[in-house]
Amino acid sequence: MKLLNRLQTPPLHDYRKPSLKLNIPKIAFRIVLICQSLGPTVSEGDSAKVGPPARNNEPKPPPRAKKRRFAPIKIANQIPMRRRKEIEKALGEREGSPTKWSRNEGTKNHIFMRKRVKPGTIRHMEYELLDVEIGESWPVPISVIHGSRPGPVVTLLGAIHGDELVGPLALTYLCGPNFMGPERVIDASVLAGTIRIVPIINLPGYRRMIRDFPDGRDLNRCFPGKPDSNTTSRVAHKLWSKLISSSDYVVDLHSAAKGRTNIPQIRANLAHPSSNRIARSFGIETILDSEGPRGSLRRVANEEGIACITYEGGGSDEADPESVQISMYGIINLLRSLRMLPGYPSKPRFRILASGSVWIRSDQGGLLDVLAPAGSFVEEGEIVATITDPELPGVQHDVVSPIRGLLISSATHPFVNSGSPIGHLLPVKRGVSTLKKRLDDEGCLIISGSDGEPPWREDEEIEDIAIFGEWSGGSPDAEWGPAGSTDEEEDN
Ligand SMILES: [Zn+2]
Repeated sequence: MKLLNRLQTPPLHDYRKPSLKLNIPKIAFRIVLICQSLGPTVSEGDSAKVGPPARNNEPKPPPRAKKRRFAPIKIANQIPMRRRKEIEKALGEREGSPTKWSRNEGTKNHIFMRKRVKPGTIRHMEYELLDVEIGESWPVPISVIHGSRPGPVVTLLGAIHGDELVGPLALTYLCGPNFMGPERVIDASVLAGTIRIVPIINLPGYRRMIRDFPDGRDLNRCFPGKPDSNTTSRVAHKLWSKLISSSDYVVDLHSAAKGRTNIPQIRANLAHPSSNRIARSFGIETILDSEGPRGSLRRVANEEGIACITYEGGGSDEADPESVQISMYGIINLLRSLRMLPGYPSKPRFRILASGSVWIRSDQGGLLDVLAPAGSFVEEGEIVATITDPELPGVQHDVVSPIRGLLISSATHPFVNSGSPIGHLLPVKRGVSTLKKRLDDEGCLIISGSDGEPPWREDEEIEDIAIFGEWSGGSPDAEWGPAGSTDEEEDN
């Protein structure tokens, strides 16, 4: 944070998109940039007059028509017919906002953990993962921002997997003085509703730099949990009953498991209406339509009628600055879309709604050198990686892409056997020219929010690019799993 305070930030229009390969110290620089570009927030009375930021002296677009908020959401026409019907049916069952969010109801105190948070205030407190009288209760930090106006309860979670650090970084920055407080983006005096931020859920795993809880279980397979079962199940039960069940919207931040990396992407059950809405509101290009594994927070929350989406960005044990920045933009977009914060959300040029993928596998064993990193748009037959063997110097095998598409994930561990997955590809058949306009010099997708605040655009201008098919093994990441793994294998 010292660096944050020292940096002199240039005006936003001087900002040039840095290369996708960034050094960690740039995080601080980029966070300041986000903060500057988001600018101070505005009072409620002003919010109606606020437009999107003017760019390059272009005339300001007209204010958006009110009716658009209620226009039907487009469903990309290549999603399989059966799934499309499920999504359309779910979106047709639109419910109005609960009366408790109405201004006529006034704003009441927010009660959390038997503590009272007054309207327009922020409280930082500790939440104990286990109820014990002696021994370790694992208190984790939580910030509750209770707005001066009524509205939904949004819960933001990081590090359900203790070694996934993009979420903790993003949420810690959001709780810092550059983003939270009077005249900042998250200002309790103008906020409608309540935000609860838990940067690190799996504190014991985080301290040991491991994914699971100390009893070896994956918290994100144990929801809703049981009060009298194993340790992780008890933690899940307490989180479920005290934190999740009283939420209207949940955003769960993850990174890829060890040995691979993900481009920033949202995973959501698009047939769950409120989850569909917040998945789109996050403002990034790639959305994977999946229910989530059994026992995962997302799946169980959806079954109980709570909107929940998973953000994936970067890999475990790394602080990918782009993934951190994009998740922060996404959360602010989401809060603006829900009309909890003033200002307009930014939107991507296109969205890829994917219900299936293709795997790139190695046919040889040896050491991998990835030429097309995650985020690359690759052509059929393009060499995406090479494999060499220390026992046979001079011999090299090429790994080629079987199809044209966007690499959403790639292996980062160099050791491979024949059959090892080395890339996860969304096959793109339509919208190719749109997608190509957003590639950088190295052929990688410039993700909305990675190069400063995206320009203003209407919903109608966003092109939906559908990827149809199915998830091999039942879920987006199933094929990464070790031999003998079930269809429950997924990063999130
Ligand atoms: Zn995870």
